[in-house]
This record gives sequence, C-alpha cells and structure tokens, in this order.
Amino acid sequence: MSENSYDIVIIGGGVIGSAIAYFLSRNTEQNLKIAVIEKDSSYQFGSTARSAGGVRLQFSTPENIRMSQFAVEFLRNITDHLGIEGEKVDVSYTEGGYLFLAQDHQIPILYNNHEVQKREGVPVALLDPEDLKTSYPWMNVSDLAGGTLGLEGEGWLDAYGLNQAFRKKAISQGVTYLKDEVLDLVKNGSKIEKATLKSGDSVLGSVFVNAAGARAAEIAKMAELDLAVRPRKRFIFSFSCREEVGPCPLTIDPSGLYFRPEGHQFITGRSPGPDEDPDCLDFDVNYDWFDNDIWPVLAHRVPAFEAIKMENAWAGHYAYTLLDQNAVLGPHPEVPNFIFANGFSGHGLQQSPAVGRAIAELILFQNYQTLDLSCFSFERLLTGKGVREINVV
Ligand SMILES: Cc1cc2nc3c(=O)[nH]c(=O)nc-3n(C[C@H](O)[C@H](O)[C@H](O)COP(=O)(O)OP(=O)(O)OC[C@H]3O[C@@H](n4cnc5c(N)ncnc54)[C@H](O)[C@@H]3O)c2cc1C
Repeated sequence: MSENSYDIVIIGGGVIGSAIAYFLSRNTEQNLKIAVIEKDSSYQFGSTARSAGGVRLQFSTPENIRMSQFAVEFLRNITDHLGIEGEKVDVSYTEGGYLFLAQDHQIPILYNNHEVQKREGVPVALLDPEDLKTSYPWMNVSDLAGGTLGLEGEGWLDAYGLNQAFRKKAISQGVTYLKDEVLDLVKNGSKIEKATLKSGDSVLGSVFVNAAGARAAEIAKMAELDLAVRPRKRFIFSFSCREEVGPCPLTIDPSGLYFRPEGHQFITGRSPGPDEDPDCLDFDVNYDWFDNDIWPVLAHRVPAFEAIKMENAWAGHYAYTLLDQNAVLGPHPEVPNFIFANGFSGHGLQQSPAVGRAIAELILFQNYQTLDLSCFSFERLLTGKGVREINVV
C-alpha cells in the first residue's frame, strides 16, 4: 500500500477533469505535481463518451455564451493546443449549426435570447416560416412561427476523442493518471488531506478537485458536504431514413426534441418532464420512449421521418444541478482546498475548455484571469440565487 503526495488531486478523468489537468500542467512556472484518479479505464461509462457532442452559442446567459465562444476558438485550433510533437488532433468538429424552432408563444423568448446573443457577438440569423421553408424544404413549418440559426461555430464533435486528446496532452505535460476509485476523503478541520482508494493506496494533496461527473454528490458526501447535483438519465437513439433529407443542422423542435445528422444516419433525444425524471445511474434504455415520445414528433416535423428505422440506442447521465441546471465552479466556502467542477447538465462537453482554464486559474492565481465565472460559485447553491438559462422550450 502506497501513500503518494501531490499538489493537486483531480477526482475523475472525464472531459472536465482532463481539461483541468491539461490547463494546470501547461503552467510550468509553478511546477505542480498533479494526479488524476479515474476508476474507468475504458472511459465508456462516464457522461462524456455518451453525450451528443453538441457545441452551441445560442444561450441566454452571457457567461454560457462566452464559455462556448472559447470552446469554438479552442476547437478550431485544437492541434495547436493539444497536438503532441506536431501530430494532428482531429475530434471531427463539424460546424453544422444549431437551428432553434419556435411556435407563437415561444417567439418572445427566442427574440430576447437573440438580443443577448447579438450583444455577445454571436452570428445568429432570425428566420420566419417562409425562410425556414426555403432553407429546409423537407421540414413541416405549418405550426412554426420562426427560428434562429447559428451561422458559425455551432456544431458537434467526437466527445470521447476530445476527452482522450486532453488526457494524452496532460500526460505529455507530466500529469499522472491513476486507475483507481476514490472511496473516501479524509478531512481535518476545514481541509481535505487525503483520498483513500479502492486499491488500498491513498493520495495526499494540497488541493482536491471534484470532477466526478454524475457521481459528484457522492464525492462531496465523503467530505460530509452536500452538493445539490443529481444523476439524471438521458437516452440517445440513432436512426436511418430511407428518403434523402437535405443539409440538416442540429434542429431543436419546439417540443424540446432534437435531431442531427451523424454520418449517414441521425441521432435524436429529448429530456423528460420533471415528473418523469428521477435520480438514476443505471444504463437501461426505455425503447417505448422512442415509439411514444420521439418518433411521432420526428414524423410530424419531418414527413420523411415517417419511414425511419431505429438503429441503436444508449443511455447516459446528466449531472443535474437541482437549483438551475448550470455549472457549479470553485471552492466550497467552508473547505477552501476542495474545488468543484460539476453540475453541467447537457453542456459540460462544450464548456470543458473554458472550465479547464477557469479552474486552473483559480488554483494557480486564486481568481479568474480571463473569463469571470463567479456567478457559478458554490455559494449560490447555499443562497438559492440561481443563474437562469432561459431556453425556448
Ligand atoms: C445523453 C447525453 C447527451 C449530452 N449531450 C451534450 C452535448 O450535446 N453537448 C454538451 O456540451 N454536453 C452534453 N452532455 C453533457 C456532457 O456529456 C457532460 O456535461 C460532460 O461529459 C461532463 O464531463 P465530466 O468530466 O464532468 O463527467 P464524466 O465524463 O462522467 O467524467 C467523470 C469521471 O469521474 C469518474 N469517477 C466518478 N466517481 C469516481 C470515483 N469515486 N473515483 C474515481 N473516478 C470516479 C467517472 O468514472 C468518470 O469517468 C450530454 C450528456 C448526456 C448524458
């Protein structure tokens, strides 16, 4: 049994933990000894590999928009950031756009969001039903009042690939990845001192980072802290369509259902209502959900989707912040050496570059240097003052 000591111990090596490890280890001046503890060497069971891979700029909160703007810049130059010895990094970043569709009652929100997006410099086009019909002749626009289309930057990517690119680069910069599971945290007063691991080893640290995704609340509990982030199950279904559908952005129906092309097929999903959304960590797929709640909406919006074949399906987990479904970033107010990077719901992949940079800044310089993300502090969970992201649906 060993007991190694590190400056920074990151719990969880998904896209968030690995992005933090990458940005921290880029700083050579402080010469920090960094460990990432990850229990799943396949990287298949965390949220990252199971995500839809989407990157969008069409948020209503400036901070969320700015995080995605940084992601776009980062992804466009990913080889400069994550390439090792000149090798090209390809995460299949496809700038296919996001198209939000709205019915009459949703138009005020769509227009409001568009104003915020314009102020933040996001290139988004407002479309009326005629524009929609012209651009997307395969779409049923009869019950639509308008839409917004992101003109640059928005799209999708290979989420597992981005996770691995961060990880490999972090390792090349001296970070140690330990394949192990954190079972407990030892706290002394207001300080976490060590993590005990399933192997019997333990790891001492000056700073601990909770990047455990959907299991973040379990990690917080090990330090006798309550983190109001819960695991919520989401399904993704892939399907093929006999008829050719023209160029298709990631389209968000007024019902909240989304679909986008994936190679020669499509993927689709939809969040359940709050009453049908219990805490859940299993991977069982409810195929009735596709038949009853997905396919009829698809067929209504795209007549060609009347005749589709479901090809595959999987379940993954959101780390769902109960207060406002937004990220929780920064130290716990009573345990300052315990840093949180959790609760991203459906946005963590695209936020990973900005979050990695932000948490590294907090650890290295004790404050945000580039993008001020203090609105996402842990304190807000205690005061109940949430950050409201107002979506069309
Ligand atoms: C169906 C679905 C679709 C999504 N679509 C999008 C999208 O389009 N765009 C977007 O931006 N985001 C999307 N997301 C959200 C995104 O996937 C997550 O926000 C993001 O992957 C979170 O990364 P993470 O590193 O926090 O979590 P994870 O990837 O889950 O990583 C956490 C890691 O911690 C490890 N861990 C947990 N407990 C321990 C322990 N005790 N000891 C050691 N290791 C531990 C786990 O094994 C895991 O690998 C989607 C999510 C789902 C489920």
